[in-house]
Amino acid sequence: MPSLILCYHKVGPESAEGRFLNVSPETLAKHVKFFLRRGFQGRTVSGLALAPNVREIAFTFDDAYQCATDHVPEIFKPHGLSATFYAVPGLEESSWDGTRARKLASMEKLLELERGGHEIGNHTYRHPHLAGLTRRIVLEELLLAQQALVDQGLSITSVCYPFGSHNDLTVRVAKRIGLVRGVTLSKGLVPEGADPLRLPRVVVGFRDGPPLLTYKIWVRPLLQRVGL
Ligand SMILES: [Zn+2]
Repeated sequence: MPSLILCYHKVGPESAEGRFLNVSPETLAKHVKFFLRRGFQGRTVSGLALAPNVREIAFTFDDAYQCATDHVPEIFKPHGLSATFYAVPGLEESSWDGTRARKLASMEKLLELERGGHEIGNHTYRHPHLAGLTRRIVLEELLLAQQALVDQGLSITSVCYPFGSHNDLTVRVAKRIGLVRGVTLSKGLVPEGADPLRLPRVVVGFRDGPPLLTYKIWVRPLLQRVGL
């Protein structure tokens, strides 16, 4: 059974956050119950065993949007479940969202989340497309974020490449600064023997209730494999 990593962004009601890169708290709660009922063990990204025959799932929240960090802990707590939030410590708002920019979690909130058993990961300092940047800039982006988070006392061992943008250089630099897990936007379950710094994920959209999510994760890849 391959490991499964789900990728979320915002978590909030449609009236406040819209549908783009958002799921409602009710939908997220349904996802949690759906996977736990099916015997998945909830892990943080750094806590994944990535071993065969382990039925495990990691819920990741890119950008650590304030709306996500406000809603996720209360949804996860009754299940003893931990999430992974990828923080951008150089920004207070999601500048890449243009007119839909939203507040990102404060450092205090990130510390509170880690104390509550959640993982905080490195999502660079200013959220650039990393592939194509020089080694110096890639190093600066990852290192500034790492320092900003670690200096506050957070333990940071995984990275999420903004926009999924990464290449061999990005991965080498991430490894060099001590990061041991990395998540991308490559689609699918984590195959056996996957590079731990290039783990694929399944991106969850607003309309993805459990039936659509099941289709995305298990049915569509099968259909694609047989050419349908
Ligand atoms: Zn991002």
